[in-house]
Amino acid sequence: MDLLDAWRTLPAAQQPEWPDPGQVLAVAEELSKLPPLVFAGECDRLRTQLAAVARGEAFVLQGGDCAETFSGATADDVRNKLKTLLQMSVVLTYAASVPVVKIGRMAGQFAKPRSKPVEVRDGVELPAYRGDMVNGFGFTPEERAPDPGRLLRAYHAAAVTLNLCRAFTQGGYADLRQVHAWNQDFVSSSPAGRRYERLAGEIDRALAFMNAAGADPEEFHRVELYSSHEALLLDYERALTRIDSRSGLPYDVSGHFLWIGERTRQLDGAHVEFMRHIRNPIGVKLGPTTTAEDALALIELLDPQREPGRLTFVVRMGAGRVREALPPLVEKVTASGARVAWICDPMHGNTFEAPSGYKTRRFDDVLDEVAGFFDVHRSLGTHPGGVHIEFTGDDVTECVGGGHEIVEDDLHQRYETACDPRLNRGQALDLAFMVAEMYRTAK
Ligand code: PEP
Ligand code: MN
Repeated sequence: MDLLDAWRTLPAAQQPEWPDPGQVLAVAEELSKLPPLVFAGECDRLRTQLAAVARGEAFVLQGGDCAETFSGATADDVRNKLKTLLQMSVVLTYAASVPVVKIGRMAGQFAKPRSKPVEVRDGVELPAYRGDMVNGFGFTPEERAPDPGRLLRAYHAAAVTLNLCRAFTQGGYADLRQVHAWNQDFVSSSPAGRRYERLAGEIDRALAFMNAAGADPEEFHRVELYSSHEALLLDYERALTRIDSRSGLPYDVSGHFLWIGERTRQLDGAHVEFMRHIRNPIGVKLGPTTTAEDALALIELLDPQREPGRLTFVVRMGAGRVREALPPLVEKVTASGARVAWICDPMHGNTFEAPSGYKTRRFDDVLDEVAGFFDVHRSLGTHPGGVHIEFTGDDVTECVGGGHEIVEDDLHQRYETACDPRLNRGQALDLAFMVAEMYRTAK
């Protein structure tokens, strides 16, 4: 059997119960004939940049929605997210003086693992929402029935999103001379916006100086943005895996960077088996129960050549756990000679339910987990390689705290996420300033 299909004989966690498996096969067949969304050469380039992160020379900013939706694949939504990502990235690059590798949780983040397979409301039980790629968000039997046709819609929504991202980042919108423009609708309404405006002013002066001195580097006019998502639905990922004509190697062309989630990283499971064989740079989420032996076994399976840039560990321990749970992993992995990139996801270990029933996160916990992550790396002499966050470009009220001091009673005002609570634009920008500060003092 083809190595790319060996996962089919293993247990695959978190797959939907499709009503008609024959229809999944037909959809997979159709997907396998569609053009790639990303190219092998782009994935290679990202791997090279992640190798610089693993060596301690660059920093990753990875973020976007917890769950993208089909209706969110619009020019406005994508531009707002991108704008926030660009602003955060400028803050980090300028205030921490470090190259920032920008990876969107965008153009493919349509499938979600769930802790419970069903949802109960007022005594009615329906299948849990598993992302637009599987079923609908609405709480009706029709919406919640898994529909394989959604795999195709996900491909097209990813294509639209990626097209917008490519146009925005290459077509002048991401030009560094636009630093003020990204902030325009934001500057007077928020402390984070005003702080950003001051930094943008400094960048402007630096650009004017460079211009006067005759320098106008190409890098200032466009941005490299990579796409990423959790590689959850293996039928979809397999159908989008192609053999690169130059190298003869398989790449999953559904996104540049793909990761294995906390719930699907079983060493003998289908996800790890599938991901072993693709050549993309890949990540694995590591939660607080991860042992050093687990981490070493994952390296053995996923990065046997110990190739810097191939494997990124995205650690999501929780603010209260990171300072104890992370050191043994970093220590033993480093001692083994492996050079992985370490990224902090300060979101998924800090979710709780507010009395009103909304799932939320405290900005201070998010910040504290990042601080703990930096503390651990500082004390071990290793590199804090980046952050992975859930945010949106809009002024939602999903996480509490931050500059605007959203309190639990405010959550209902603009709670719009299809899954986990995201930082809003101000909170995301605040976080970027604080992370830049931590980075600078850690050096
Ligand atoms: C996520 O990234 O949305 C997610 C479900 O994360 P984790 O696998 O770390 O729980
Ligand atoms: Mn999430």
